[in-house]
Amino acid sequence: MARIVITGGAGFLGSHLGDALLARGDEVVAVDNLVTGDTRNIEHNFGNAGFSFHQADVSNYLWVPGEVDAVMHFASPASPIDYLEMPIQTLKVGSLGTHNSLGLAKAKDAKFFMASTSEVYGDPLVHPQTEEYWGNVNPVGPRGVYDEAKRFAEAMTMAYHTHHGLDTRIVRIFNTYGPRMRPNDGRVVSNFIVQALAGDPITIYGDGTQTRSFCYVEDEVRGFLALLDSDINHPVNIGNPGEFTIAQLAELVVEMINSSSEVTYHDLPTDDPMQRKPDITKATELLGWTPEIQLKEGLERTIEYFASL
Ligand code: UDP
Repeated sequence: MARIVITGGAGFLGSHLGDALLARGDEVVAVDNLVTGDTRNIEHNFGNAGFSFHQADVSNYLWVPGEVDAVMHFASPASPIDYLEMPIQTLKVGSLGTHNSLGLAKAKDAKFFMASTSEVYGDPLVHPQTEEYWGNVNPVGPRGVYDEAKRFAEAMTMAYHTHHGLDTRIVRIFNTYGPRMRPNDGRVVSNFIVQALAGDPITIYGDGTQTRSFCYVEDEVRGFLALLDSDINHPVNIGNPGEFTIAQLAELVVEMINSSSEVTYHDLPTDDPMQRKPDITKATELLGWTPEIQLKEGLERTIEYFASL
């Protein structure tokens, strides 16, 4: 049994991660400033003696009394609309927030787990993306605030590993979806489901030929635990390699909901990556992890969630 701090613990991924840790008997200390996180994601744990929640902005300061075995740094705006609206906070939580979280891990002699992203690959020129690919990021474009913050966070994590001997992990998370995404999250899966349920127009950005590879949250979190429990210090991709165009996703969602929504086309956001698909050889060979829930099944569960709101 371990005592684990999750920054961003009331967010989409952080809250699912907390549930998975509690389910296996670990204690969870969730820290979140509730800017994009929500206590509704964690309120089912409020009666659990193994769970506590602290509202705090980890970019300012992070201290947790008592023993800590691992610090898992998930705090950050993570949807393009959020980090475009909060560019400075996004840069701060990826840099100062990462530094503070690393500092806590070092003070407690705890493991540190960095939630990084496939966005470190930018608009990739290598397909599928292996961990060795250095990426194609526009540092001064609108997405640069997220991409560069996460790239800095990886560099900082690795420096604590090599310079301070901290036991660190870096996961590169590819597009993940599932229950607890906010209805107005802005990301493609939640947008399309919410639109299709309401019979509103489906908003495809660009011509819909860009691709993404979607991982169901339960698979993703299982990958986090496998990496946490491993001894791998270099970055590992965790994502589902099943690749779909955005137009295919729109068609599938409309069909599954039997929706009357029409598909509409809008401007492609600046620097929107044209393709993305993880090479998961490392995760498979080193962690024994592969995703199990394919898109249709994951969408069914996610549609059920949004329909129940
Ligand atoms: N997208 C879209 N319509 C939407 C929201 C997103 O066509 O309502 C597109 C977006 O331009 C991108 C892809 O879907 O090409 C995935 O976007 P998302 O914001 O989910 O994540 P990203 O992978 O871009 O961070």
